[in-house]
Amino acid sequence: MIDALPEKGVPAEQVLAELREMRGGDLPTHGGRLFAYVYDPALDGLDELARTAHAISAHVNGLDPTAFPSLLAMENALVGAAAKLLGGGAETVGSVTSGGTESLILAVKAARDAHPEIARPRLVIPSTAHAAFAKAAHYLRVELDVVPVKGLTADPQAMAAAIGPDTVLVAASAPSYAHGVVDPIPALAAIARERGVRFHVDACFGGWILPYLRRLGADLPDFDLSVPGVTSISADLHKYAYAPKGVSILLHASEELRRSQYFAYADWPGYTMINPVISSTRSGGPIAAAFATLRSIGDAGYLSLAGRTREAVRILAEAVTETDGVRLFAPAETSVVCLAADGVDLFVLADELAARGWHTQPQMAYAELPPTIHLTVTAAVRDTAPSFAPDLADAVAAAKSRGPIELPPLPPLTPSTVTPELIASLAEGLGLGSGDFSRMAVVNTVLNAAPPPLREALLTGFLSHLQRPAHG
Ligand SMILES: *Cc1c(COP(=O)(O)O)cnc(C)c1O
Repeated sequence: MIDALPEKGVPAEQVLAELREMRGGDLPTHGGRLFAYVYDPALDGLDELARTAHAISAHVNGLDPTAFPSLLAMENALVGAAAKLLGGGAETVGSVTSGGTESLILAVKAARDAHPEIARPRLVIPSTAHAAFAKAAHYLRVELDVVPVKGLTADPQAMAAAIGPDTVLVAASAPSYAHGVVDPIPALAAIARERGVRFHVDACFGGWILPYLRRLGADLPDFDLSVPGVTSISADLHKYAYAPKGVSILLHASEELRRSQYFAYADWPGYTMINPVISSTRSGGPIAAAFATLRSIGDAGYLSLAGRTREAVRILAEAVTETDGVRLFAPAETSVVCLAADGVDLFVLADELAARGWHTQPQMAYAELPPTIHLTVTAAVRDTAPSFAPDLADAVAAAKSRGPIELPPLPPLTPSTVTPELIASLAEGLGLGSGDFSRMAVVNTVLNAAPPPLREALLTGFLSHLQRPAHG
């Protein structure tokens, strides 16, 4: 166990060696074999550039733009770039946030606080919308109306029926994270506009690639601020803009729409606090790194990265289509490949892919949808994609011969019976005690069988079990 507060400070070289050793146990952030969490353009020199830019501004505080005008200038440049890319007009304004979740929380907050007269504000989303909307609703005490989808996309008629007098916001995805498909934004925005309700497009995932895929000829619906009725849109720069973690953009169609996003407080003895976003003190590091990344890649660079991503998606989707035992679960129309299994245990397959160096993201069964495997595809995957097909065929064969997971006998579980002791013994029994998370099929099978509230309780308990103070 490494002591974070040794009695005497440790030499820099040693600290960095320790850090590198710890990092060695992580999944690979580069190399085009990890299909979630990370976004890799595989561009020479970009990491060094972003790292240096991050370091230059790491100690700058976004709390007060008059003290640090460099940060204000970079934020305005990033918002301007996003507005240009995402159909903004002369009235468009925005904010730089720390991530997609914060952008969505703020879009919901702005909508809620624009209607102080509504005592119980409501948010209408399709069931495929990102979980961050549920988090926003929970944090902000906004009621969530989750509307079933038709196929895998939002159903405009059903969404329209869910809008009521207390609805402050309607939202949809471009594209959805789970399946990578784009909701019918023009129809939904028209409905929201007619009802006088704000409409947010969650382009956190796709905001920095959809415009380029469209330029390359992909047949995708209009989804941005140019669509009448769209009042706000979010795009994560730490996804397809390939910036280091900690940067997303939230755009509003006008300054008036943004006003209720801000928080101001002067009624205390300290400085008057005016915060556009959730954090007050904020590091300039991620913003400077994003600024450097965008300027270095440029519009032509992003077009070319989208082209490579598109080729990688085509190669992976073809591998899935041509392999017996798996099938494409959703049309691979953006940068996601989502597959389902037929006659082979999906969670065993995910482990077999991991054993061959392909780290995918299993998604649990939901409503009538079966469990699936999600692949977020980035430009780096263009180079590795051709070797996926043979490994997929191998992994399917291995999963078939291992057969489906047979669960060990488990105590009857309900959210209220999930205690720290039970979690500790489950973790031990399922082989998670060692910290090796490479064979997860049994765990995933248990979770998949659990109804959502139990799954939430189990994973909350497990995370709490992992997060314990280390004593050096
Ligand atoms: C990633 C994502 C989010 C949440 O973003 P974070 O940066 O992880 O907070 C929201 N919506 C969609 C569609 C996403 O893909």
